[in-house]
Amino acid sequence: MKKIKTVRDFNFEGKRVLIRVDFNVPINENYQIIDDTRIQYSIPTIKKILSDKGKVILISHFGRPKGKYSKNFSLKFLVNHLSDELNTTVKFHNDCIGEKSEKKVNELKTGEILLLENLRFYKEEEKEDINFSKNLARLADFYVNDAFSVSHRLHSSVSVLPKLFNKKCKCIGILMEKEILFLDKFLSGKGKKPVTVLLGGAKIFSKIKIIENLIDFSDHLLIGGGISYPFIKIKGGKIGDSITEIENNKNIDDKLTSILNLNNKKNIISLPTDVIISDYFDNSANTKICDIYSIPDKWIGLDIGPNSIKNFCNIINKSKTILWNGPMGVFELQKFSFGTKSIAKAIANATTKNKAFSLVGGGDSVAALKMVGYEKKISYLSTGGGAMLEYLKTKNNPGIQAMMI
Ligand code: AMP
Repeated sequence: MKKIKTVRDFNFEGKRVLIRVDFNVPINENYQIIDDTRIQYSIPTIKKILSDKGKVILISHFGRPKGKYSKNFSLKFLVNHLSDELNTTVKFHNDCIGEKSEKKVNELKTGEILLLENLRFYKEEEKEDINFSKNLARLADFYVNDAFSVSHRLHSSVSVLPKLFNKKCKCIGILMEKEILFLDKFLSGKGKKPVTVLLGGAKIFSKIKIIENLIDFSDHLLIGGGISYPFIKIKGGKIGDSITEIENNKNIDDKLTSILNLNNKKNIISLPTDVIISDYFDNSANTKICDIYSIPDKWIGLDIGPNSIKNFCNIINKSKTILWNGPMGVFELQKFSFGTKSIAKAIANATTKNKAFSLVGGGDSVAALKMVGYEKKISYLSTGGGAMLEYLKTKNNPGIQAMMI
């Protein structure tokens, strides 16, 4: 763990504490919360401050209101849910800066909570704006960041606001602490061996640096989904119309080639051997199982095939530390979801039956676990997809960096 203070290191008695949370939770058309994991993970942070008799001010974004007020993106719908979860009345104010917000904050008594309105109703939130940040800073004596999922964003409340507090008046919350702890444990290479990393999804560009970082200490690096095709192409395979994202990009070609060269010595990367191909991107499309190196023209690889599933699951089953980010195929379509679901089950089983430590991040991987009802069987579900990938790439994030200045 980096030298970074957490809420456990402070006593908040009488202090006005601004907590940057990520309460951007999925909801249905009736504003009922479908998944409140992010809220649940931040409750211990809020409770710690309340138990110290601090005054809690919650700030969050919600959706993409594009810098102006919109009733549809108000955070007000959270008030009852938060009051129930925290067993106390949560107050709400319909703005997040300005004189009235300051008045509301200053009226707070110890042990009270105030939820402020959506930060993204101000376009300045997404622009690292110093004046907007100063207006937020005026509300509090202390800043806590418990929003890991946005810690990679260069946004005012994440990367500028903490710099306005001195080191004795800022720290991270318990959600953030856990995320960093587990990712650092992983990156330290001290996890129990064999260590297996499974990467999927479509965007190879965003994952090259991660592969370069992880190749050093992983025992197995399984690469599935859309990001496997560029590797197959470089190895001389025919990939038909499958996704590559690297057409005519010599820089990426060179990087992938050097990863494959490095792997010639280490031999830890496994790519799919067979895939489910289709001539059409639809649930009703024709499909065939095909060798991944000989996909016919006009056909697209959209899921990993049965042999690849077997190979990947065998490795997962023998692993003691597992990190997974990104689907094995276009799992949103039922017809191409079998590979991703099988992997989700295998990781859950390795966790419960073999006592492996599993860390899963990214909206798609978590959604796949939920599809098969196995999400509770994972050691730690990260609340951040992009933030997790960024941390694996740079071993830091702007929001975390700003806490150390
Ligand atoms: P990413 O944001 O890079 O993690 O990509 C996630 C997306 O990758 C999901 O929406 C999947 O549908 C998509 N995906 C996974 N495998 C494939 C594939 N073989 N072809 C096209 N898209 C894919």
